[in-house]
Amino acid sequence: MADGVERVTIIGSGPAGWTAAIYAARANLNPVVYEGQPKRVGALNEIPGGQLMFTTEVENYPGFPKGIEGPEMMMQFREQAKRFDVRIVTRDIARVDFSSRPFKLWDSKDELIESHAVIAATGARANWLGLENEQRLAQSGGGVSACAICDGALPAFRDKEVAVVGGGDSAIEEATYLTKYASKVYIIHRRDELRASKVMRQRALENKKIEVVWDSIVVDVVGDTRIEALRLKNVKSGQVRDMPVGGLFMAIGHTPTTQVFKGQLDLDEKGYVKLTDPGRTTTSVEGVFAAGDVADSVYRQAVTAAGMGCKAAIDAERWLATQGIE
Ligand code: NAP
Repeated sequence: MADGVERVTIIGSGPAGWTAAIYAARANLNPVVYEGQPKRVGALNEIPGGQLMFTTEVENYPGFPKGIEGPEMMMQFREQAKRFDVRIVTRDIARVDFSSRPFKLWDSKDELIESHAVIAATGARANWLGLENEQRLAQSGGGVSACAICDGALPAFRDKEVAVVGGGDSAIEEATYLTKYASKVYIIHRRDELRASKVMRQRALENKKIEVVWDSIVVDVVGDTRIEALRLKNVKSGQVRDMPVGGLFMAIGHTPTTQVFKGQLDLDEKGYVKLTDPGRTTTSVEGVFAAGDVADSVYRQAVTAAGMGCKAAIDAERWLATQGIE
């Protein structure tokens, strides 16, 4: 950055951010990654590295035939980026001004960064109920997860009775997936009607391994080092009971981390960054690219996020070349 202006600034340190960094570095763009800083989000202590920091074993990322722990995987991504001299700043980006170029970004210490291109890879957070024991067991790998597709096939859940909370398409999809491994899957839904689409609803109701527990909310998660039961309250009768389960999966939606981009980038009605060209990573602001879960409410996988990170770096490199910046 000879003129004091970064060529590419990458915000976020999940699979999308690190992959973008590796590609941008190998394209000689000398990228800087703002990886975020440790903070408390609800009852969870969040550390840089994105959602994989809360995942135990990752078994579906190609190249790791024996599986790999989520945090270990993110450490390896980071190490790979460092091998190509990616600069890493352990701070959040607190605000941005994309109204003129070079773009302006301010970090959490209010230091100004000017950058020709920006890759937004800030991810999304799974929504949690916010119960203390839920958070404790999620963080300690005690059988509470917000991603059945990531964690459901682990030996700890095999042939166990498990529960999914939620009533949307994700809850049905995750419950159906879990029936491959679990002996029974309860869907705990707070109303007497599923939000999920008709075809998904039918799929759940016809599956003999799935039982919907209607009108019920989880008021506590019981278990010391591993989940043993859910304390459920029927919202109509007021009755409270303990239901033994060997696993709990939250499917109550995700929230994209786009607060910082409000008013700067076009977001969809759920707050995800809108991509302007299908299959690419371009956003409503020329020179700002988005990759990973921040712009993808559908697939939300580490491998798809990494793929988008690669695309964002290539899109940024090509765009910078059109601006005479190489
Ligand atoms: P969603 O449609 O927003 O559903 C969230 C569910 O969680 C709702 O049933 C909601 O209950 C429940 N919920 C929310 N907060 C809760 C709380 N605090 N306690 C208890 N329950 C709570 O989210 P999603 O299922 O993740 O789907 C997101 C989007 O992706 C949707 O557009 C969906 O169609 C799409 N998707 C599609 C597929 C597919 O087609 N294969 C698969 C997955 C997702 P209420 O119903 O009472 O509000």
